[in-house]
Amino acid sequence: MGPDYKAAGPGRNRTRIRPQPPEHGKLKRPAIVPRKGWRFNDAMAAAALLDPSKFRDPVLTARGERRAHVVPTALETLWFNTGTLCNVTCENCYIESSPRNDRLVYLTAADVALYLDEIERERLGTREIGFTGGEPFMNPEMPAMMAAALERGYRVLVLTNAMRPMMRRTDALTALQREHGARLTMRVSLDHHTKGGHEAMRGPRSWAPALKGIGWLVTNGFTLHIASRQPPDESEAEARAHFARLFAEIGAPVDARDPRTLVLFPEMDARLDVPEITEQCWGILKRDPASVMCATSRMVVKRKGAARPSVVACTLLPYDKPFDLGPSLAGALRRPVALNHPHCARFCVLGGASCSA
Ligand code: SF4
Repeated sequence: MGPDYKAAGPGRNRTRIRPQPPEHGKLKRPAIVPRKGWRFNDAMAAAALLDPSKFRDPVLTARGERRAHVVPTALETLWFNTGTLCNVTCENCYIESSPRNDRLVYLTAADVALYLDEIERERLGTREIGFTGGEPFMNPEMPAMMAAALERGYRVLVLTNAMRPMMRRTDALTALQREHGARLTMRVSLDHHTKGGHEAMRGPRSWAPALKGIGWLVTNGFTLHIASRQPPDESEAEARAHFARLFAEIGAPVDARDPRTLVLFPEMDARLDVPEITEQCWGILKRDPASVMCATSRMVVKRKGAARPSVVACTLLPYDKPFDLGPSLAGALRRPVALNHPHCARFCVLGGASCSA
């Protein structure tokens, strides 16, 4: 039996993982305080807090081994973070988007054009432009930014919750779809295959507007992908089977078996313990560093109060200073990235996830 999402209730108070002070020099497990009716799988209940000696040094791990690095090989995908404001506040949002978080302010179409110019000037060979937020359609210049990328011939991937902010832009979106539809993909976040599971993450009354937005995208011929979280109480095969049933029910032409069209992200919690990734890990895990997201992509962000945007290593670490690689793409592509964050280990190397289409 899985989690009872209805009993768990909506939003941020669904569970609390309360760090406890270390005792007798030992790392303690977090005290997991479920609300009535909430059930955890064993792995979650057994999770320990991150050892504070880990992820300190970009060169060496806590055990003194050489930390893994990723050398950029190309800029296949350039992401733009359009700003962290969002119309909803989701449980455990990795970027903490909300109606109040403007730590990353709105990019403008002029900002985007400068980076597209740099791609061309430096012949970076980029094929795909991604837009993420926050909710990208909160940004008033979102249709202009999409148009700038599409008109220059890029494939464009937009991450959206398909709710009201997107539905306010249907005229502009219809025009872009008509003109450039073959190169445009809309990836909609649906946090669970049930209304209860989705609303436990995204808040009450978030399911019907998302399905309405998905319905509009399908009816108007957009290429649709779905992004979700891997439910902790299901295997990946079970989750995909549940999504397949949902897609059939709502008439969404999405192949739930295809990890590209239904992306299931592992849960990201930087407070929980995870092994550090050493140079030896590539061979042991049979992973090619070139397959990790920061080998082939970067993201442009604009911090509140900053004079101009900067380029960060990836979509997952927009706030962490060591992952800020400066204002230019060319400069950002000269710098290897030290895998010095729990997300590098859990999400990219051990979880094997990618944010691209
Ligand atoms: S989180 Fe992943 S993509 Fe980002 S820097 Fe770490 S390994 Fe690279």
